[in-house]
Amino acid sequence: MASVQGASALGGQTGTRRVVSRTIRGRAVSDGAGVRLTRVIGGPDLPDLDPFLLLDEFRSDDPGDYLAGFPDHPHRGFETVTYMLAGRMRHGDNKGNTGLLRAGSVQWMTAGRGIVHSEMPEQEDGLMWGFQLWVNLPLEHKMAPPRYQDIAPERIPEVVLGGGARARVVAGRLRDAEGPVRGVATEPHYFDVALPAGSAADVALPRDHQAFAYVFDGEVRIGPVDSATGLARGELGVLSSGEQLRLAAGANGGRLLVVAGRPLGEPIVRYGPFVMNTRDQIHEAIEDFSQGRF
Ligand code: MN
Repeated sequence: MASVQGASALGGQTGTRRVVSRTIRGRAVSDGAGVRLTRVIGGPDLPDLDPFLLLDEFRSDDPGDYLAGFPDHPHRGFETVTYMLAGRMRHGDNKGNTGLLRAGSVQWMTAGRGIVHSEMPEQEDGLMWGFQLWVNLPLEHKMAPPRYQDIAPERIPEVVLGGGARARVVAGRLRDAEGPVRGVATEPHYFDVALPAGSAADVALPRDHQAFAYVFDGEVRIGPVDSATGLARGELGVLSSGEQLRLAAGANGGRLLVVAGRPLGEPIVRYGPFVMNTRDQIHEAIEDFSQGRF
C-alpha cells in the first residue's frame, strides 16, 4: 500500500486531506447476556465499513448494565479488538487461553477458524468503559489458527502531537511511534487521541485505507479548517480517502478514536458471530460449531 507521507506538506493539495463524508450516531442495543451498549458500526445506519464490521462502545457505572457479560459464544472469520478505558474484563476460551483486560489495555484477538470464548466483567461496581471493534479477515486468513495479542497498557506508546495533544498508538505508525499490535492482514492504524481545549493536530494515514473517527468525549472538529465537520461525543465520522487528517478541539477539549484499515473488497456473508465470504462457508461454520469442532 503506497503512502506518500510528504505530499501534503510539499504541495498542500486539498485532495490529500481527509474530510468527514458521513456522520453516524450510535444506537443503544443489548447484547451478550444483557449488556447495554452503543452500537456505532454494525447497525442499520452503517452495517459495515470495509474492513470494519462492528464498533460498540460500552460505558456505564450501573452494574446492572454490564454484570451479565458475554458468556461462552463463538467467533469465526474475523478479529475482535477490545480496548479498555476503565474497568476490568476477564477473558477465557475453549483452548485454555485466559487473560485480564484492564484499563488502558488492548486485546487483538484473531478468531480465524474459530474459538468459543467468554468476556465477563471482573468487578461488581464502578465504571466499565471501552470499545469492541470487529475487523474482517481476507479469504485466505479466515481459517487460520486463532491468535491473541494481549497488550498491557505500558506497552502502548504515547506520542506528543503538540499543543498538549497526544495519542496512544495501539496499532500502526504515528510520527515516530509504532503500535505493539503486529501482523494483522488489514494493516490497521488504531489511535486514541486526546485534544485539550483549543488544540489541534495533524495525523497521517495511508491514503487508500478506509478510516473513521469516533468521538467519545467532548467535541472535535475534523478536516481542514474551511471544510471541517464538528462531531460531538457518540458521533462517528466516516472519512474520505487522503493522507492527512486534521483534528481540532472545541472549548472543552475532546477525545476520539482514529482507526484505519485496508479495505478487502470481498463479499461479506454474515450470520451473527460468523463472518465469511459465501453462504456455504456460513453453513460449514454452523455445522462445525454444532459438532464441537471449534
Ligand atoms: Mn466475543
